[in-house]
Amino acid sequence: MELFDLSGLLFSAAIFIPLERLIPRNKDQRLLRPLIRLDLAYIFFNGLIIRVASVAFVVAGVTIGAKLTPSAWIDSVSSLPVIVQVFAIIVVVDLGLYFVHRAFHEVPILWRIHAIHHSIEDLDWLAGYRIHPIDQIFTRTMTYTPAFMLGFSDTAVYISFLIYHWQSLFIHSNVNINLGPFRWLAASPEFHHWHHANEKEALDKNFAAQLPFIDVIFGTAFMPLNRRPKRYGTDTPTPKTYLAQVIEPLRPAKTPPPIGQTDNPHDRNVHSAPGQ
Ligand SMILES: [Zn+2]
Ligand SMILES: [Zn+2]
Repeated sequence: MELFDLSGLLFSAAIFIPLERLIPRNKDQRLLRPLIRLDLAYIFFNGLIIRVASVAFVVAGVTIGAKLTPSAWIDSVSSLPVIVQVFAIIVVVDLGLYFVHRAFHEVPILWRIHAIHHSIEDLDWLAGYRIHPIDQIFTRTMTYTPAFMLGFSDTAVYISFLIYHWQSLFIHSNVNINLGPFRWLAASPEFHHWHHANEKEALDKNFAAQLPFIDVIFGTAFMPLNRRPKRYGTDTPTPKTYLAQVIEPLRPAKTPPPIGQTDNPHDRNVHSAPGQ
């Protein structure tokens, strides 16, 4: 197993760097923007951790699926056309991701880990890699285990995983693509950039990664027409180096200020429930 996918990274760069120059959302953003070295560190170190963990969770998923799911069910699901299986997996995975992602926002101990991803202030395809390894591994395990247990074929799971990966780079990218009437059907930079907006109306919105209508169903969608976020990031303090970002959320939490004595809208200890 290759521990670092250099060719995959170069391929992604060859697609997204020209696109971000040709049709940028934010025209002022430079290629060598602030904290780019931090995100390159994430690509290298998280890449190692996550590739090893991915193999472990695939083996565990296949083993659990084979043990718990009736073989007649596996046979009928895995014999469906691959395209049908891929669409079904995307729905299953994104539905799971919606709830896991929402938990990362609503449970304070999880928010400290997820705040690392929300520390991104300059969104582009590279910034999407900035995710705490625990966040990444936990989310992947929780979202893909049901797909394995439902008996989808390995080919369909692999294709859906590639789509998920590319979609993840795309929704963070600084690319101005308008999906028009399909804007609630497939996630776009417009949709996910609002998730990263540091603005009160957009807090705890747009949890889905691929299917925005899931947020519409659960009342957490926010994508106003003809408007763009004014600023990105979070008011939750986060360190600026890879090692510190990995370690800091695992330290014991500092005592929060008493309720009513903070005007920080991202402080999860006083934050109102989504949709309120
Ligand atoms: Zn989030
Ligand atoms: Zn994101």
